[in-house]
Amino acid sequence: MSEIHDVVIVGSGPAGYTAAVYAARAQLNPVIYEGSITAGGALMNTTDVENFPGFPDGVMGPDLMDNMRKQAEKFGAKLVTDDIVEMKLDGEIKTLVDGSGNTLQAKSVILATGSAYKEIGLTNEKRLSGRGVSWCATCDGFFFREKEVAIVGGGDSAMEEANFLTRFASKVVLIHRRDTLRASKIMADRAMANPKIEFVWNTEVIDVLGAESMTGLKLKNTVDGTESERNFDGLFVAIGHVPRSELLTGQVNLDAEGYVEVVGRSTKTNLAGVFACGDLVDHTYRQAITAAGSGCQAALDAERFLTGH
Ligand code: NAP
Repeated sequence: MSEIHDVVIVGSGPAGYTAAVYAARAQLNPVIYEGSITAGGALMNTTDVENFPGFPDGVMGPDLMDNMRKQAEKFGAKLVTDDIVEMKLDGEIKTLVDGSGNTLQAKSVILATGSAYKEIGLTNEKRLSGRGVSWCATCDGFFFREKEVAIVGGGDSAMEEANFLTRFASKVVLIHRRDTLRASKIMADRAMANPKIEFVWNTEVIDVLGAESMTGLKLKNTVDGTESERNFDGLFVAIGHVPRSELLTGQVNLDAEGYVEVVGRSTKTNLAGVFACGDLVDHTYRQAITAAGSGCQAALDAERFLTGH
């Protein structure tokens, strides 16, 4: 408790680890809280990352994160596999409490808690979670060998997960609420060319059916309002993400959707010495490379702030 750290980074993933690499190389002895179960962030649940510069043959998401982690550690970042459960971020010295009950003090804090899977918001979606309903094909696809599964969403995540699921499932039915995809052309083309994927357009999932485990979905056509039921063994929800900013409510300024507001093109929040980066601030790009870039910016902003104080 007596030690006052220059910088504590909350959250791993490309933003947190990159901030740690830069802060460590600037001799700021950063402490990075990686999370107790989510260390490495969203990329830990992906397979091939084909668009991270420097890897012409692609790289597995978990390998990329492991390398970033090692790089941060090599330069002296202190890695803690725990969560921050409480923060007091105003004032000159910030106070943070971790999941083991330790209290830390810091002159600056970099927030990089990323985002969580978005849910459709149905009662039975939650009830049957882990019993047919999943948000992570990489984690749970294996359980659906030779089964028929549905996937909801029209973005890159849905395309990627649908393709991945065809390794296991006998059929993947992609349900999208509109008649055009949001996904990038290359990802959409790949999914459309996959003979095991069927596209169901203009359709919403309005209920998940099943008592002990999921047996099917209740669907609604968004054009003519007609409702129908269809049997499925599993449902993968891939409709985007929400920022993980619950702990920050009432502390730093958040926008209407819960993203941390930053000043201009910087990573500065409304509180002096508190910086935010990665998916936590990003409505638009949300790529591993943009998150890493903003983690770098946050470390540079923190370094300048500390020099000025
Ligand atoms: P996204 O681009 O925001 O797409 C979310 C999709 O889910 C949209 O098609 C949206 O429909 C649909 N949706 C949202 N809420 C819904 C609801 N309540 N019910 C039904 N459908 C709903 O999210 P994402 O696919 O997770 O991608 C996020 C970012 O990560 C993007 O920038 C993407 O490019 C990136 N990413 C990249 C890769 C890659 O390998 N390059 C892989 C995965 C993700 P509408 O289209 O109607 O809004």
